[in-house]
Amino acid sequence: VLIGSPGSGKGTQAERLKTELQVPHISTGDLLRSAVRAGTPLGQKARAVMESGNLVSDEIMLGILEERLTANDVADGFILDGYPRTLPQADALEQLLGRLGQPLDAVVELQVPPENIIERTRKRFQAEGRADDEPETVRKRLEVFARQTAPVVDFYRRNGQLKEVDGVGTIGEVYDRILAVLPRSRDAATA
Ligand code: AMP
Repeated sequence: VLIGSPGSGKGTQAERLKTELQVPHISTGDLLRSAVRAGTPLGQKARAVMESGNLVSDEIMLGILEERLTANDVADGFILDGYPRTLPQADALEQLLGRLGQPLDAVVELQVPPENIIERTRKRFQAEGRADDEPETVRKRLEVFARQTAPVVDFYRRNGQLKEVDGVGTIGEVYDRILAVLPRSRDAATA
């Protein structure tokens, strides 16, 4: 699991990690954005919530995640980006992974201060035009992160599952820091 505030680089790092680890990158934000683009009933519901900077309901998110995690390509593992974002989601994830027999290997937190986030999302807004990167909405998303997702980070910290990584630096620097904190069990298994 990759966790961090909006604009902390989770998506960018997950894209690199999937090549290294040879497992799919599952971004709940990307899944929602495709549903919005496809105009499905789910997408229609999610769109306004996303554009306001708020979170889509835990119930809807669990449905999306469950469907994705029961696909064949995740049998050997996956990188989860953007989930869990609330304590009930963390709980649901634990139960779902228990049922699938796929325990969490690591929870990596990308730590980036708010001033860097404002700058990064401003650039992303210019480059990609994501409606929720509009500065006012970013402020809202940071607030939502502090209120609803920071407790999830604390939960994993108390559990001893959290690996904290400094997310400020070049993409390559941050990537190397992530690799350094990941358990090496995959290597050991293939050695
Ligand atoms: P992201 O690309 O991960 O920043 O997600 C973009 C938006 O999708 C978020 O601001 C939320 O509105 C919604 N979203 C993505 N993942 C979740 C989640 N796990 N729970 C609730 N809402 C989510």
